[in-house]
Amino acid sequence: MRKISIGLVLFLVALLVSLGAAPTPASSSSTAIIAEIINQVDEQQFRTHICYWQSQEGGEECNSLGSRWSCSPTAIDRALGYGQRYFESLGLKTQSDAYNLPCRSGPSSNLTAEWPGTESSKLVLITAHVDSVIFGMGASQAAPGADDNASGSAAVLEAARILSKYRFKHTIHFVLFTGEEQGLIGSRAYASRMAGQGAQILGVFNMDMIGYDSDRDGAFEIHAGTREGPIALARLMVNTLKTFEIKLTPDVLESGATNRSDHGSFWRHNYPAVLVIEDTEYGATNDFNPHYHSVNDTLSHLDLSYAKRIAQAVIGAAAQLAEPVP
Ligand SMILES: [Zn+2]
Repeated sequence: MRKISIGLVLFLVALLVSLGAAPTPASSSSTAIIAEIINQVDEQQFRTHICYWQSQEGGEECNSLGSRWSCSPTAIDRALGYGQRYFESLGLKTQSDAYNLPCRSGPSSNLTAEWPGTESSKLVLITAHVDSVIFGMGASQAAPGADDNASGSAAVLEAARILSKYRFKHTIHFVLFTGEEQGLIGSRAYASRMAGQGAQILGVFNMDMIGYDSDRDGAFEIHAGTREGPIALARLMVNTLKTFEIKLTPDVLESGATNRSDHGSFWRHNYPAVLVIEDTEYGATNDFNPHYHSVNDTLSHLDLSYAKRIAQAVIGAAAQLAEPVP
């Protein structure tokens, strides 16, 4: 586990730019497109989506508290239905992949929206689990899960809204997993199916809890593990922060990385995947959400500007990996 401080790097980049040296983008036209994409990420969209998912009703007030427990068909199917309606309103084709979750009778499903590439079926994945849980869960209990993980799910919808306005060489999948809280069951089924089909995945950006920053230091973590592929994805994100001046401090975790979110399901098949998460006890500092898995994990405790900046880093990096077509 290493702390990567970007302060000095930013200073040197600024110095080089002021001296007239080029900041080494891939090409100026694609850099302009990525900047345009990043600038469209909208905090208000996070409020709308998280509000719906925490209450399962929506509206400005977010007063009532719902649940997205994967074992309850009513709760989780409603949460997925919101995502499906949203993706389809953007003109994206959606697919529900069925899998078996032991605590639920009948099939469970993840939800995928696809944005086909102009040249290739190689995949870039932007993912989050939409299900929630609280400690000691019963079927009728509220599990608002605003941070865990309506925040990451909202970022997936926001990625779809913005990226579907552009064309990319490679295909992008926007995925909402379920069954994460029961042991990554939904994403395991998804990743196994992909591997079985011989799918080529260029990178998986999995967001899980991106809305809590009580000390407002902008610290967040990228869990890459020790393999080359995911480390390259982390590097792409760190470079995106620098190039587009997104005010966050990344902590890239290699040997200290956790596999306890849906990116872990892709690691099992050697697919390059990273976990993007707020400041947890795994990293150099710890500002973990104390309302985790409780009825108090609500929108009122979140910093949506922080969630927005993390989403900017992910969407900007994913867009570069998918290669915009000017
Ligand atoms: Zn989570």
